[in-house]
Amino acid sequence: MTDAVSPPLISVVIPVYDEAENLPDLVARVGAALSRTSKPFELICIDDGSRDDSAHILAQLAARTPWLQPRFLIRNYGQTAALQAGFDIARGQYIVTLDGDLQNDPDDIPELIEKMENSPEIDMISGWRKARQDATLSRKLPSMIANRLISKVTGVKLHDYGCALKVYRREIIERIQLYGELHRFIPILAAEAGARIVEVPVRHHARTRGTSKYGIDRTFRVALDLLLIKFLMRYLHRPLHAFGGIGLWLLTPGALSLAWLGGLKLMGESIGGRPLLLVGVMLCLMGVQLIAIGVLGEILIRVYHEPKGRALYRVRAAPRPRPLQPGPETANP
Ligand code: UDP
Ligand code: MG
Repeated sequence: MTDAVSPPLISVVIPVYDEAENLPDLVARVGAALSRTSKPFELICIDDGSRDDSAHILAQLAARTPWLQPRFLIRNYGQTAALQAGFDIARGQYIVTLDGDLQNDPDDIPELIEKMENSPEIDMISGWRKARQDATLSRKLPSMIANRLISKVTGVKLHDYGCALKVYRREIIERIQLYGELHRFIPILAAEAGARIVEVPVRHHARTRGTSKYGIDRTFRVALDLLLIKFLMRYLHRPLHAFGGIGLWLLTPGALSLAWLGGLKLMGESIGGRPLLLVGVMLCLMGVQLIAIGVLGEILIRVYHEPKGRALYRVRAAPRPRPLQPGPETANP
């Protein structure tokens, strides 16, 4: 659907790990759905070090499918790295992500793209699996709690952060960099990068082939990631306020206790056996260390920003002018 000369309008990015049984159908269905739009597209499938036959099948399919761009990672890095690998080579103006297990429905893509094209005020559409088809409560419940918690903690109000089906304007993807397992928090990172996000209900199907790559242990990892995201949102640019703040709260009572004990000592009292001495020393030590960590953080943040010329802020285009209401000053005589 596209050639090397003219870049595609739409890049679909799919991370693939042990999805051999799903791949032929997946590629065919994405192809069929996007062909209907008659817009140039590419499908980027990132093989994330699959242990099954996924890589071979992908290579075979790519040999006869001009719009299929496969990439093969040397080992299993995880879904986040696979997605970023796809973003790094995506050329489209609209970047679509979905899972490789056909739990998302490729037939939803054209509608989402159309919405994006018709709504210049939207930068990102996040799918909402309103009728979720993961049968077990052990999957639904943690996800429900996670969604509520993430929404509350981050202030980015969505119903469903875990839905892989999303559409982005290219600029948003260019502004964010994924680390660790932060793919679940892309809407938060995007919102921080100034994206205006809407949520649109999409279809969801049960996994019919292959197995899920995640178990219940992901709950804890999500909790830790949430903590990290919240910290970054608040303190990335001022780590001294985070660490130094706690440091001062410890140092102050520590110093006061030691001063008090010092006073007693001067008056001739023995303070060697006072538990307060130990408490005071501990508080002072911890306080000083936390402040030092905060200062180190401040140095790191400068190292982080300066070489890349990253600014503290981003500007965007002026809003389109609204027609002025005729008021006393603007009305023509
Ligand atoms: N995936 C990946 N690398 C991994 C784990 C998963 O690329 O290490 C892919 C997987 O092939 C699928 C998507 O990420 O396309 C989501 O994984 P899965 O369907 O297992 O997650 P679930 O739907 O159970 O949350
Ligand atoms: Mg899945």
